[in-house]
Amino acid sequence: MRQDCVALDSGDELSALRERFAVPDGVIYLDGNSLGALPRHVPARLREVVDGEWGNGLIRSWNDAGWIDAPRRTGARIARLIGATAAEVVVADSTSVNLFKLLVAALRLNPGRNVILTQHGNFPTDLYVAQGVAELLGAELRRAGPNHDAVLAALDDRVGVLALSHVDYRTGLINPMRRFNAAAHAAGALTLWDLCHSAGAIDVELDDAEADFAVGCGYKYLNGGPGAPAFAFVARRHHDRFRQPIAGWFGHAQPFAFADDYTPASGIDRVQCGTPPMLSLLALESALDAFDGVDLAALRRKSRALGDLFIRLVDETLGPFGFAVASPRDGQVRGSQVSLTHPQGHAVMQALIERGIIGDFRAPDILRFGFAPLYVRFVDVFDAVEAIGEIMGSGEWSQPRFLVRKAVT
Ligand SMILES: *Cc1c(COP(=O)(O)O)cnc(C)c1O
Repeated sequence: MRQDCVALDSGDELSALRERFAVPDGVIYLDGNSLGALPRHVPARLREVVDGEWGNGLIRSWNDAGWIDAPRRTGARIARLIGATAAEVVVADSTSVNLFKLLVAALRLNPGRNVILTQHGNFPTDLYVAQGVAELLGAELRRAGPNHDAVLAALDDRVGVLALSHVDYRTGLINPMRRFNAAAHAAGALTLWDLCHSAGAIDVELDDAEADFAVGCGYKYLNGGPGAPAFAFVARRHHDRFRQPIAGWFGHAQPFAFADDYTPASGIDRVQCGTPPMLSLLALESALDAFDGVDLAALRRKSRALGDLFIRLVDETLGPFGFAVASPRDGQVRGSQVSLTHPQGHAVMQALIERGIIGDFRAPDILRFGFAPLYVRFVDVFDAVEAIGEIMGSGEWSQPRFLVRKAVT
């Protein structure tokens, strides 16, 4: 019942956090896993950055406003969310570019091994970048699975790096990070984790799980804004030896010495390349305030509870309409999303979006609903499932305008 969901929201220890976001009236936003909502305080901070730090401070702001330290400062704040130390995380470039840099770094740390092992169905950019790295270095890209045992079985003495997404973007299935790290290390391989669908929504313990490298997006559950820069993690034990291939001046030991030769900065700083997109970076830094004081265990509990509720309501009310739950029913191995499959998935999602209920569609037939636990309410989940029922029951989805595919789904 709707009333039960209203009660769940009243009892929710995180319910006040929604106030930190500017979710538009009349919108139920279930796509924070693609583009996080706007934290309410960010526009004012951006105005200050543009008018004050850029407009008035001009070049002085690199020192006076601390722009030069923003990549490390912001990385340190993300570190808390992913179980790393401040010295192990920096914000730079995009996830795709960081994948390239760290895949090459990992292979170089493991000479004599020239296989990148990944999983069938990994996110496209992860697969494409790995293909590019393999081509460049004369390495081999091996895709196994998606089944976990098949991935483990493909770990042999030629694998230099095991590169996986922590959470499957289609289904939300969580790859067991600790188990895969242990198996990779036992086989002599390093690991590189893509945390795009984890950071800011589910628990990640990179250090405790002994991960070697990781990357992730700033604009999904971290709410940094469209095209926000990404983060990169390198475990402390690799800091002295890892070398990444884009040897730009921001990764130099002394960028302002203007030496002819590259000397990598010590530690995580050497992951940086060139001048960061400062407006986007400062928006991300500011957005991370939304996590201030947030208990990450409570965040994870809510993320699971929202997903569990959605699945229960789908089972109870959408039975006749031909949906299937494509995500794990066990919340322990499911990220902060639930995916449904339906042959008319694209049209159904378009009809939902027209009603202000925003999820997304992933070909061929997946409707994806993300539950950002900072701002999604239990009653939102109820209303979304109700609306799906109405759209199916009335045939609303079959109107011609819902059949047109736009460039971004
Ligand atoms: C969103 C996402 C990306 C995006 O990479 P960009 O370089 O920011 O475009 C990469 N990998 C995964 C797993 C993602 O979910």
